[in-house]
Amino acid sequence: MKDFHLPHISTGDIFRKAIADGTDLGKKVKEIIDNGNLVPDEVTDQIVDQRLEQEDVKKADGFILDGYPRNPAQAKALSKFLNSINKKIDAVIYLDASEETVTKRMINRNTGRADDDPNVIPHRIEVAKAQTMPLVDFYQQDGSLKTIKSDSDIETVYAEVKKTISSL
Ligand code: AMP
Repeated sequence: MKDFHLPHISTGDIFRKAIADGTDLGKKVKEIIDNGNLVPDEVTDQIVDQRLEQEDVKKADGFILDGYPRNPAQAKALSKFLNSINKKIDAVIYLDASEETVTKRMINRNTGRADDDPNVIPHRIEVAKAQTMPLVDFYQQDGSLKTIKSDSDIETVYAEVKKTISSL
């Protein structure tokens, strides 16, 4: 994020780069991602743990995880790993938008991603509801959840995200 000098760790970006570079990881995850399913936890957890051990992240005054954790097992793995490096989650930002909004955004962003195909989007939404939504309760209960209503335009949502991070 441009306003914070914090490493931005997006698991989706890491996977897409691996696919573009044709690495073993990319070959392993391409079909899973194109079909809108989640990459297995053991693969994803290891990628995040390795990224969190890199120098730029260690030196920074925090980091932003984007798209991770995506299910309760990943949340537990993250919590265990953060404990082991003496770090903790300051906040979990939940960008709360309707199915209609997220569908429109995926279709309109026009990045050529196979998983933004109108035939794949409904499945991604089902996966998110079944696997990721339980995290809303999980982080609500531990007090770290910050919900941002996200149906409005990108500038308004970004301003809210900025305000939330600045207040931490
Ligand atoms: P994103 O760019 O965050 O929407 O992620 C794109 C795709 O990458 C997802 O639909 C999954 O297939 C995969 N992916 C990204 N993050 C994760 C994660 N934390 N766990 C499993 N799969 C993930």
